[in-house]
Amino acid sequence: MNFINLPQLVDMRGKLESNGSYSKRTKSITHRVWHHSLTKKDLGGSDAASFAGYHVNTLGWPGIGYTFVIEPKNAINTPNGKRARIVYVNDIDRRTYHVGNSNQFSLGICVAGEYRYDTMDDATLASIAELHAALVKDGIGKYDKAHNEMLGYSWKACCQYNYRDAFDWKGSKTPAKPAPAPEVYTIQEGDTL
Ligand SMILES: [Zn+2]
Repeated sequence: MNFINLPQLVDMRGKLESNGSYSKRTKSITHRVWHHSLTKKDLGGSDAASFAGYHVNTLGWPGIGYTFVIEPKNAINTPNGKRARIVYVNDIDRRTYHVGNSNQFSLGICVAGEYRYDTMDDATLASIAELHAALVKDGIGKYDKAHNEMLGYSWKACCQYNYRDAFDWKGSKTPAKPAPAPEVYTIQEGDTL
């Protein structure tokens, strides 16, 4: 696993607020889905711990709904330069809630921030690019999508940053591939309507 060796990655699996556990995926991961948190990046609540509290206490989920959270307000000095902290919050094989009907085959990555108003800094762009490159090398997912490119979520203002340009920050951009035709969408647990 390349992603686990990123110097800006912090493993907080099992350490954040939870109420139960997510079940194992019944499908392999094909989609890496990019989110932002809709909370301004410098606010105290713009981090994995706060999102976990919100998902558990307000939404009633078993735990935080993503697999990775990138925290711009927590910059780390690494041998490669300044990087936004990447928090690893759920095992890759857990079907967390973030895209409803597509949860089984989708990995959720949330970049903390409200990118209708916030500007992304280089430390954050670098962390997105390096996490993306590592996941590609690790064979975790085939397609990259924004939340609002997933079936049933075209109304969402997420992710509001150009994730493809972010991947290219260090030349890790992968060619756009057409995703397979979607299945019929049904509302299910984990939808935030
Ligand atoms: Zn989202």
